[in-house]
Amino acid sequence: MSEQTAHFLNLEEKYGAHNYHPLPVVLEKGEGVFVYDVDGKRYYDFLSGYSAVNQGHCHPKIIEALIQQSQKLTLTSRAFYNNLLGEYEQFITQLLGYDKVLPMNTGVEAVETALKLARRWGYEKKGIAENKATIVVCKENFHGRTSTVISFSTDPSSYKNFGPFMPGFEIVEYNNLTEIEIAFQNKNVAAILVEPIQGEAGVVVPTEGYLKGIRNLCNQYNVLFIADEIQTGLCRTGKMLACDHENVHPDILILGKALSGGVLPVSAVLCNNEIMLTIKPGEHGSTYGGNPLACAVAITSLQVLQDEKMAENAEKMGKILRNELANLNSSFIRTIRGKGLLNAIVIEHSNKDAAWELCLALKENGLLAKPTHGDKIRFAPPLNITQTQIMECVDIIHHSLKILQ
Ligand code: PLP
Repeated sequence: MSEQTAHFLNLEEKYGAHNYHPLPVVLEKGEGVFVYDVDGKRYYDFLSGYSAVNQGHCHPKIIEALIQQSQKLTLTSRAFYNNLLGEYEQFITQLLGYDKVLPMNTGVEAVETALKLARRWGYEKKGIAENKATIVVCKENFHGRTSTVISFSTDPSSYKNFGPFMPGFEIVEYNNLTEIEIAFQNKNVAAILVEPIQGEAGVVVPTEGYLKGIRNLCNQYNVLFIADEIQTGLCRTGKMLACDHENVHPDILILGKALSGGVLPVSAVLCNNEIMLTIKPGEHGSTYGGNPLACAVAITSLQVLQDEKMAENAEKMGKILRNELANLNSSFIRTIRGKGLLNAIVIEHSNKDAAWELCLALKENGLLAKPTHGDKIRFAPPLNITQTQIMECVDIIHHSLKILQ
């Protein structure tokens, strides 16, 4: 480890909260699919800021939009109108097929917003008795870190000793329609909240037909389908939305991360009037939500995804990546799974730290990836990666796997 790297690691260790366990690499520059450390070493970024940097690091058009708008007007608060919010709202709702959007900042704030909207709808439209609304969620879910959202996490590292917890959630098994139908027998169920692919759980892809099945059950039982596409959305899985793979239109759509191409926190909740208009002026909001800087960046980020055909590229490159990984025939890779460029491998090894050690070797060889839940490693590069680059990355992975021997 260089002296510089050690210096920055020590600063964070001493002055920062210890709520993350990063790989020992200190980055100072990003460009497209690459990031560079403080010693000038180049790496392929196979995490893409947990899929926030779908458009590639510091995309010139997004940065240009950021610079232009930041020199004009950055924040008005929603006490006044600004000349970009309406334009952004029109653009994103027409693009994704909803009446309205409610802009927030981080992903979890958008999840909270969706839960509030679903409860409101439950009381005011479905006729659920006061404070009885229930929202169905899935085991191994990840929807963020607020007290409400961790109240229905099944991962002890998310919830342990953070109680008491918010009531009103029922947990069912992921990828199991029967359990959902049983849960929907309860008349107080207002909504189901689902990740179309469970990202943080290790890229768990449900059986084809699962999302359509949820849609049908929601129609049958008058329950709202909330899709958390914060990680799966915006071309990551090879379509604009992961739900598009099954031609499913959720009642409430949650977006975040790549909505700003990794430039600043921008999230959004989309739904139709019947749901959105249950929240009236003064009943929900955020100081930064819908600020003109975020609007300018979000419009450009969405345009870049479309103009550069990033969904198509993700679909194509994902297939090549999974095929090439399978061709490695490594006894250390138990599973290769994913859709588009949201992929993971599961490591098979007697050493429980093998995935971490492999990530350290990948780092040495010029590729950054991070294990999740011990034995899983996500492979999710920016969506503008080329075939030649994918082949180079597979070579790096092949070479790095040797340290597990
Ligand atoms: N929902 C999903 C599916 C996510 O993957 C994440 C973050 O990884 C979140 C919500 C939370 O987003 P944020 O970290 O921006 O609050």
